[in-house]
Amino acid sequence: MAEQAIVDSLGRQLHDLRVSVTDRCNFRCVYCMPKEVFGRGYQFLAKKELLTFEEIERLVKIFAGLGVRKIRLTGGEPLVRSELENLIERIAAVDNIDDISLTTNAVLLSEKRAQSLRSAGLGRVNISLDALDDETFKAINDVGVPVKKVLDGIEAAASAGFDSVKVNMVVKRGMNEDSIVPMARYFHGTGQILRFIEFMDVGNTNAWHDNAVMTAQQIVDVINAELPIEPVEANYLGEVAKRWKYTDGGGEIGVISSVSEPFCGDCSRARLSAVGKLYTCLFAADGFDLMSLVRSESSDVEIEQRLRKLWARRRDRYSETRTVESVLRPKVEMSYIGG
Ligand code: SAM
Ligand code: SF4
Ligand code: SF4
Repeated sequence: MAEQAIVDSLGRQLHDLRVSVTDRCNFRCVYCMPKEVFGRGYQFLAKKELLTFEEIERLVKIFAGLGVRKIRLTGGEPLVRSELENLIERIAAVDNIDDISLTTNAVLLSEKRAQSLRSAGLGRVNISLDALDDETFKAINDVGVPVKKVLDGIEAAASAGFDSVKVNMVVKRGMNEDSIVPMARYFHGTGQILRFIEFMDVGNTNAWHDNAVMTAQQIVDVINAELPIEPVEANYLGEVAKRWKYTDGGGEIGVISSVSEPFCGDCSRARLSAVGKLYTCLFAADGFDLMSLVRSESSDVEIEQRLRKLWARRRDRYSETRTVESVLRPKVEMSYIGG
């Protein structure tokens, strides 16, 4: 309810919560979980270290009381966590949560799975796909998964009748800039919105360098040269993707300019890791240990009060203040908080 909503020290209201349900993934995307770090010997979290569905449900209820309306489930790869439908049903039953979405690489998104997720109450799905040719895509996911597997997942999502199915493509110079136009052409006219994401310096293991960033403007220029586009008004305040539409009526695309044109001023998101740490910025070094609170004697009211204080103190605006030094600072890994 509006009167209970909380505002941080820069006037930003808490509205969205991203929940990472696992740190595990069936991909090893070179820009997210490089094999040199996340190889065979890597120690992933044990089941008992993860927040249980009951604990996540309890926290979602508390967050809903603080103004959160949107929940996005992510990972690692969220579909590797068993019985995710059970969590979705629990979240869907929480008062005031009016949007539940999922970000996935879609490898486990069969038609049956898509339908069961939909029936459980999942509203929207974002599927990650960074190229349309197998050679490039396999070099990115680094586990040999062909493009067709993900395209099948996109089809499964489309037939399950979700409110929206979007496709996310991270663009990294030297990795997949040649895939921008083929991807645009493929999704042109399908009704599935393709969103291009600038490569970000999340975590410390992906060897980020600003030379590898293809900016939103550069991406727009490449597309516009082949398939003319024009800007469209944002749907709502704080929408992270800038919208563009094809002038021939072939639908729209989004471009997320987190590096070249940051949007910290409207950032209404908190992120809950699989071990129950709460991050108020994607680039934070550490999070607030909610798991300990949840597993203590603390009441919901006590947890709510701690969260109010935490959000009221929030001053994060990393992307607006990024420097050569800040890029090297310790930061949480993407596979822990899921984007
Ligand atoms: N495994 C799921 C997936 O890939 O969709 C969910 C988690 S993944 C971390 C969420 C999103 O973050 C994906 O779309 C992925 O491409 C994106 N991502 C990961 N590392 C990134 C980076 N360094 N810069 C920009 N986006 C990144
Ligand atoms: Fe896994 Fe998603 Fe990271 Fe790729 S981007 S390694 S699919 S968590
Ligand atoms: Fe939000 Fe941090 Fe990203 Fe800025 S850098 S938009 S504060 S998550």
